[in-house]
Amino acid sequence: METYLLFYNGEWQKPVSGDFYEIISPTTGEPVSKAAYGDEEDAKRAVDSAADAFKKWANLPAKNRAEIMTKTYHLMMENSDELARTISVEMGKPIKEARGEVSIAAEYLLWNAEEAKRIYGETIPASVPNKRLKVIRQPVGPAAAILPWNFPLSMVTRKIGPALAAGCTVVIKPASQTPGSAAKLVKLLDEAGMPKGVVNLVTGNTNKIVDTLLFDERIKKITFTGSTEVGKILLRKAAEQVKRVSMELGGHAPFIVFDDADLEAAAEGAIASKFRNTGQTCVCANRIYVQSSVMDKFLEILKEKTESLKVGDSLDENTQISALVNKAAVKKVQKHVYDALEKGARLITGGERCTVPNFEKGNFYKPTILAGVDERMLVTFEETFGPVAPVLGFETEEEVINKANNTNYGLAAYFYTKDLARAHRVSEALEYGIVGINDPVPTTVQAPFGGVKESGMGREGGHHGVEEFLETKFISIGLY
Ligand code: NAP
Repeated sequence: METYLLFYNGEWQKPVSGDFYEIISPTTGEPVSKAAYGDEEDAKRAVDSAADAFKKWANLPAKNRAEIMTKTYHLMMENSDELARTISVEMGKPIKEARGEVSIAAEYLLWNAEEAKRIYGETIPASVPNKRLKVIRQPVGPAAAILPWNFPLSMVTRKIGPALAAGCTVVIKPASQTPGSAAKLVKLLDEAGMPKGVVNLVTGNTNKIVDTLLFDERIKKITFTGSTEVGKILLRKAAEQVKRVSMELGGHAPFIVFDDADLEAAAEGAIASKFRNTGQTCVCANRIYVQSSVMDKFLEILKEKTESLKVGDSLDENTQISALVNKAAVKKVQKHVYDALEKGARLITGGERCTVPNFEKGNFYKPTILAGVDERMLVTFEETFGPVAPVLGFETEEEVINKANNTNYGLAAYFYTKDLARAHRVSEALEYGIVGINDPVPTTVQAPFGGVKESGMGREGGHHGVEEFLETKFISIGLY
């Protein structure tokens, strides 16, 4: 069984407590690895390390920072199989998807390595002849990255890529369930020549570690991905020091199928959006709105495609749906399905747990479609985070836009249409940070990712991601 230590001052470190905890596989129900159970003292040491390294890293020419990041990109691609396997074993992602995650994770380093060289300032015309006005961009300072388990590697590089590009040092706090791929990434960064203290890793007692990061004045920026509930707790605490924050929080994505859409493509898109990562993504379709005139036809296609999805061990190359992250996740899915059925939804397929031969302790749930769903049901306003596709009907464009926007979340929204005017109208009317038109997987390294309303603040990806780790300084020069 692999054991993951802490990393600071450029070295792997045992936790002060001497304790370790086990990570339980979602598919086998057995321990798969162990990680250090650090606490506030370990977190403080990691902050010491990041603070000590900051000035030197910030002053290293962007070209040199970029070289180390690019080298890490290549090392990640060379070690893709091992990284993917670690993701899959720890949190149950189907192995093909896990490989995809490794690729995009590596791409975040490569893209940001290039962005590091393009952090430009400005000169501004002054109102008087004897002044010169300039604006420079500087790294915000040591940053702390707090991560979720559902994309345990790509969320790390989506944060540390722009941070390192900007000249910030980082302390990474992975989700307790998924320390492995983050630890392996740190090993590769070290191999690529990352100077001591620039990247640090702590695992263990979540509250103590996160509070240490939040309340240490040397940490100038908190970048968090996780639930809205926890995001709000962190925001309140960060307010104490008016700390810079980026929040990538929960979502409740509408997925709209208009009657002029290519129904085959729309159903394929709904499958990709809903069932990727076994329904455990922040951008997954949570409410599938279908125009009434095409409802029956759409449901027929969706049912056929859903029933052909292969449920199995996450390491099996053919698996499309695997185990949910833990038993609590299965309970939540069951609760949402029972609630919908009790309130009058129709079960089209699935609707129960299932077992996979040789993986009897796994957290498997059948891919499920619910039709006749309405807004009283939990599935329409809470994140289900599982393989459940709730389908709702609508009559008009105006009605569906109002329904789609009727939520506190605002991360991703999708719609299918062939009407160009409608494509413009609806994409502008949807109150979301990301809109996919005939595109169920819009996320890409060069574009901004992030939400509005209670889905968060700040953007990751593209040049927008680097902005989050930069301060803007105005310098006014009098010429005498
Ligand atoms: P989570 O429970 O909010 O946890 C996220 C991180 O916060 C973990 O490292 C967790 O540590 C830590 N944490 C939990 N409770 C805390 C507390 N009271 N104080 C301080 N830190 C705390 O979220 P999750 O279950 O890992 O991830 C799923 C959620 O993330 C979903 O809501 C999903 O929509 C969202 N998400 C959003 C995006 C995006 O880009 N917008 C991307 C992926 C996921 P432990 O692991 O030790 O609990």
